[in-house]
Amino acid sequence: MDKPALKQLIRTLAFAARKHRDQRRKDVEASPYINHPITLADILVNEGGVTDIHDTIEDTDTTVDEIESEFGLVVAGLVMEVTDDNSLSKLERKELQIQHAPYLSKKARLVKLADKIANLRDVYQSPPIDWSLQRKQAYFDWAKAVIDGLRGTHDDLEAIFDAVYKNRPKG
Ligand code: NDP
Ligand code: ZN
Repeated sequence: MDKPALKQLIRTLAFAARKHRDQRRKDVEASPYINHPITLADILVNEGGVTDIHDTIEDTDTTVDEIESEFGLVVAGLVMEVTDDNSLSKLERKELQIQHAPYLSKKARLVKLADKIANLRDVYQSPPIDWSLQRKQAYFDWAKAVIDGLRGTHDDLEAIFDAVYKNRPKG
């Protein structure tokens, strides 16, 4: 990795760590939320071989203007692509992720793949507290519907997703 890329990576991690410092995951241990974007990056780089680390972006709850001024227009555009519209209901947001998946840019599709891999592993290994069997199954089904809409993006990551999907809880 060249020096500008390393600097950008560390700056991104510091930014994300600051933004997510008070957030927790929904598992029983309430793990620090920052683990999740770092896991996404780990999946992209070390499992998917996506080494263009400059473009490895994680979920964030920051305004698009702030991201644009910190990281530029290209990164801000990518973050917008993978960010749900919070003015919609949860059900609508879930449905739109399925509908939009085929039309995302390649980089946004890679982020989606890593995110769904990470979240299915979490639902399997450290699920949100008090999720029923049916809810876990519904989450696996929804994640698969999103990923089925973007196949042909990255063979290895799609194979990893399919392997993880095999852990769908049985009724
Ligand atoms: P949520 O979207 O509320 O929660 C899942 C999200 O939480 C993940 O996508 C992930 O988002 C984040 N997350 C944080 N911690 C964890 C963890 N340990 N494991 C996995 N994900 C974690 O839940 P649903 O996907 O179920 O969607 C809610 C919708 O489902 C609503 O519309 C609701 O009405 C409906 N619903 C369905 C039920 C059912 O049985 N099918 C029951 C109740 C509600 P991120 O990657 O962004 O961090
Ligand atoms: Zn996520």
